[in-house]
Amino acid sequence: MSITISQTTVKQILTRCSGYLTEISTHSLQPYRGCSFGNSLCGVGCYVQHNPFVTRGRDWGSFLEVRTNAAEIYLKTAQREQSWAHRSQRAFSIFCSSSTDPFVPQEKRFGITKSLLEAMLVFPPDQLILQTHSTGILNVLEQIKRLKQVIDLRVHVSIESDYDRLQGLPPPAASVFNRLETCKILKHMGIPVTVTVAPLLPIEHPQQFFMAIETAADGVIIDHFIGGDGSRNGNRTRKTALYKAMWEVNPNSVTIEYRKQIIEIARQIMPGRVGVGSSGFAGHRQ
Ligand code: SF4
Repeated sequence: MSITISQTTVKQILTRCSGYLTEISTHSLQPYRGCSFGNSLCGVGCYVQHNPFVTRGRDWGSFLEVRTNAAEIYLKTAQREQSWAHRSQRAFSIFCSSSTDPFVPQEKRFGITKSLLEAMLVFPPDQLILQTHSTGILNVLEQIKRLKQVIDLRVHVSIESDYDRLQGLPPPAASVFNRLETCKILKHMGIPVTVTVAPLLPIEHPQQFFMAIETAADGVIIDHFIGGDGSRNGNRTRKTALYKAMWEVNPNSVTIEYRKQIIEIARQIMPGRVGVGSSGFAGHRQ
């Protein structure tokens, strides 16, 4: 599918969180609307494709709107949003991003996320979570390193399985190996890094997979499309090609029982470092 790239300006860039994100942070931030990884493996079951406010009737993966004034609007509104968060006795915490990837390939050309990180160095939030499927995060190591000195910063790298391919589905945004290597580089630099196995896909060798994560990251978060995709019983995901592909690899993987089994294995290998669901995303580990 071809992708239409457009440039746009926005009036708001910090969205006050609701629903699943409420426990995790006070604000979400999307440098782009749409996601160029919509045509990759994670895009097949991506929950955002069900949000008509984002898609406006367009196919997921067919558009990317570049928010060219994101950093300027951040600087104009961050103080107001910080006061709002502090009035509720909460840290001014930003989740970047929940409806796009901050390091889509086009970030190299437009540098919107990079400009936002620079803006955060001018007016720092209390906490920042950078969530990505991409090795492109390595292009902003300098900004991340400097931000880490002044705020509570955490990087989440999505690695949903040890399979690089599920039959019939497109390849991932980056290989499992490259994402694990990205985690290692960040960890080596002293940046707290968590692997998000969310949504949990079939895992061929769970022990080896979590041993690799244990070496590469500080923690892991596990979530399943049942309970995690914003619909009753994971009905949204059941309607996508992801469900069938998961079932064909391992029929048990489309049940919530599978999540329990995988959490148990992860906790044996990474005791005290395993989070589950939204509380895991919020930083709670067991
Ligand atoms: S990177 Fe994230 S937002 Fe983009 S398609 Fe994948 S899951 Fe969806």
